[in-house]
Order: sequence, then structure tokens, then C-alpha cells
Amino acid sequence: MDDERARELLEALRADALGRLTGVGDARQDVVDAARDANVDDEHDPEGATIAFERAQLDALGAAASRRLVEVDAALARVAAGTYGTCAVGGEPIDDARLEARPTATTCVEHS
Ligand SMILES: [Zn+2]
Repeated sequence: MDDERARELLEALRADALGRLTGVGDARQDVVDAARDANVDDEHDPEGATIAFERAQLDALGAAASRRLVEVDAALARVAAGTYGTCAVGGEPIDDARLEARPTATTCVEHS
């Protein structure tokens, strides 16, 4: 896969992950605001447990988006270094079809 196509795919993933992070941040703020308005007790109020659960879910989504960003940045660094699309285990080129489907892949299908 040429660098231009790799960057294009990775930048799209990056924008998607950033969008998710922003969305999660906004949703989390809504949950926090709602909790404050309702003045619920996280530990003893059933409503509080729901809010804590929602918050935990949003945190998990945010963490996943952050991890994705780290993967994308690492892949972009490999493009810059000229090692993108090379299997980290065997050193052979990674199939274009695999990179299209999973642009942050660091190994070929066989070594995944
Ligand atoms: Zn391999």
C-alpha cells in the first residue's frame, strides 16, 4: 500500500476517534450535570447507581477511543519511518486488503 493511501485511511480513523472522544466528553458532562441537578447519592440511590453505570460506560468508550488514537498515531509514525505495512513478526509485507480493513494492523494475517 502506498503512503498516500495509508495516510488517507489513518487520518479518517483519527478523525473518527477524535469525534468519538468529543461525543463521549459531551455525554459524560450531560450525565454529570443530570446527577448534580437531581442531587442523587451515587451509593445509596438507585438512580445514582444508574448514573454511575452510565459514567463507567462512557469512560470505557472514551478509553477505547483514546487507545484507537494511540494506535493510529503509531501507524502514522510507521508511515513516516517507512515501516508501515511490514509485518512486525515476520517482516513480510502485509496484504493491502488487510490494511484496508484494519489500517492500524502491525502484523500480517498469519502472525496476528
Ligand atoms: Zn507476518
